[in-house]
Amino acid sequence: MRPARALIDLAALRHNYRLARELGGRKALAVVKADAYGHGAVRCARALEPEADGFGVACIEEALELREAGIRAPILLLEGFFEAAELALIEAHDLWFVVQAHWQIDAIERARPAKPFTVWLKLDSGMHRLGLAAQDYRAALHRLQAMSHVGDVVAMTHFARADELGCDRTEQQLALFNQVCAEASLPTSLENSPALLGWPEVHDAWSRPGLMLYGASPFAGAHPVADRLRPVMTVESGIISVRDLGVGEPVGYGARFVTRRPSRIGVVAMGYADGYPQFVPNGTPVTIDGRPGDLVGRVSMDMLTVDLTDHPAAGLGSRIELWGAQVRVHDLAARCETSAYQLLCALKRVPRSYVGE
Ligand SMILES: *Cc1c(COP(=O)(O)O)cnc(C)c1O
Repeated sequence: MRPARALIDLAALRHNYRLARELGGRKALAVVKADAYGHGAVRCARALEPEADGFGVACIEEALELREAGIRAPILLLEGFFEAAELALIEAHDLWFVVQAHWQIDAIERARPAKPFTVWLKLDSGMHRLGLAAQDYRAALHRLQAMSHVGDVVAMTHFARADELGCDRTEQQLALFNQVCAEASLPTSLENSPALLGWPEVHDAWSRPGLMLYGASPFAGAHPVADRLRPVMTVESGIISVRDLGVGEPVGYGARFVTRRPSRIGVVAMGYADGYPQFVPNGTPVTIDGRPGDLVGRVSMDMLTVDLTDHPAAGLGSRIELWGAQVRVHDLAARCETSAYQLLCALKRVPRSYVGE
């Protein structure tokens, strides 16, 4: 069997969830959209369900997958419904949803659910993606509150730049949210992972951690709170071929690496078709049987190459970690101009196995 695999540490996931709850609002909605950022939504939700206050997903398809797997905790649709017809399924499966636009309020008005809807009314406090403008928010809230089939309402917003510590945009968004929502005395929800980890001045009833649950930091450098996270996913594979090369020999497509000394090159069963980024520089960190090493040459679809010259004990079958417990995914992301979010979500083809149940 191909040695590529992703190990998912569910004990680390629970540790990170507890940290989110300790840092943030009274309750934490575990965001498991996009198949739990590549970690497997059903397995992650099952591992968290005994303690999680609820789950956040991007769309009803993702919510139904969790319900079909027997998850009974509250589930919030973070973008609300995409068409009014979804309201029947929302009712049938007892889902919560975000209201982010006027057309959704019109659709809610026409619905006649047996049990009142729980809605999270989103303010566009400056990200300018989803949510009602500040001048429309109170009227929309009053409209919803006047409907007998709307029950609990949570006031929410989303930060655009909370991962940039010291950027005053987050404070501006917070000030606008407080100004618009202050008198409404609703439960609030503002914090994503960077806000939870980096902005202790933000308080809310419901935080919405995503990335941090998976043990990755949203920040560029070291950070005292983010450094308490435990990585959940370790992607590893094995060496399937070794060759000795003289000086000046090219390795792989495009001769992106040329040996400068007599070298031992190991070929690893992992490529961009598995979600490993194709264009990473020579010297991108990996571990070779647990010791720090270098990726060299261009990443191919199914294989990549590492330099074994300084690893004389390594050879066929040696274990190569691409990211995980030792090579932190946010450090790898910083090396190849992408984000930990993107790397985790991109994982495919690699079978996942779970530990720490
Ligand atoms: C994805 C998402 C989150 C989680 O964000 P992280 O940065 O991964 O913690 C929170 N809120 C909303 C509305 C989201 O779409």
